[in-house]
Amino acid sequence: MAATLMRGKPLADRIRARVADEVAAIGHIGLVTVLVGDDPASEVYIRLKHKAATEAGFEAVDLRLSAETTEEALLTRVAELNASDDVDAILVQLPLPGHIDEEKVIRAVTPAKDVDGFHPLNAGELYLGRPALVPATPRGVMALLEKHGVHLEGAPAVMVGRSDIVGKPMAHLLLQANATVTICHSRTRNLAEHTLAAEVLIVAAGRAGLVSAEMVREGGIVVDVGMNRTDDGLVGDVDPAALERASLMTPVPGGVGPMTIACLLENAVRCARYRRKELDYPG
Ligand code: NAD
Repeated sequence: MAATLMRGKPLADRIRARVADEVAAIGHIGLVTVLVGDDPASEVYIRLKHKAATEAGFEAVDLRLSAETTEEALLTRVAELNASDDVDAILVQLPLPGHIDEEKVIRAVTPAKDVDGFHPLNAGELYLGRPALVPATPRGVMALLEKHGVHLEGAPAVMVGRSDIVGKPMAHLLLQANATVTICHSRTRNLAEHTLAAEVLIVAAGRAGLVSAEMVREGGIVVDVGMNRTDDGLVGDVDPAALERASLMTPVPGGVGPMTIACLLENAVRCARYRRKELDYPG
């Protein structure tokens, strides 16, 4: 069997078109991205996010701060953005330079403007099953699964990776969809035993080729979140040979990546609705 590809771009384009209509209807929506330093991968992500936001009609501000910016100075900028009436959504690109405490900065963003959904309040609402602002990558994965008619109720779903930005929120969304969720991580014994049992396998480990074809269940559904820059270009965490065993699988690139950007823009619209009191922010 050769898997059907779950391509992200067509669905992401549809979401972005809908977001553009919503932005036009609302009028002004201010999205500020903050990049501290010049990490090349972060620069690429910021450029993509910024381009998508501008195309959708957001007032997108691309704030660049030098790598020497102090934690205090960054916190002051965040406080200004929190207080600004022109700003609906704030995104501080991670990772931050080593001398800045990331957790402090994440906590400093007003939760209702936290477009990334990383603030503990947003993480907590998700944990309690009342999602408010949910990280874009896991939301994008859920949208892809839904579009392809994947039935999650009761299904054994395995999440490889437990980061705060992908693995944990993803596992909670799967749980909310009534999947039977297993979370694997770097200390998991016999990873293959778990992945082979997965009807739905989601991998976000950042390790090229971590999941080989033999580790995928025949007919399984595979979402590869991994993005690894190698000599062979951008590759995922799952060996593409798994296409021969899976029934549905995301390509890398062109799978989860475009969905992340589209869902981020959706989150920014949500932030605008919170600020305009069209939606009640739970906090
Ligand atoms: P991270 O490094 O914060 O977390 C990696 C997780 O994988 C950890 O929980 C770790 O325990 C687990 N892990 C590492 N080695 C493992 C192993 N051998 N077996 C089992 N588990 C293992 O990474 P992250 O921020 O969650 O990102 C993961 C990957 O997803 C990266 O490649 C990243 O570039 C990619 N990513 C893609 C998108 C997108 O839009 N496509 C968005 C975010 C992250």
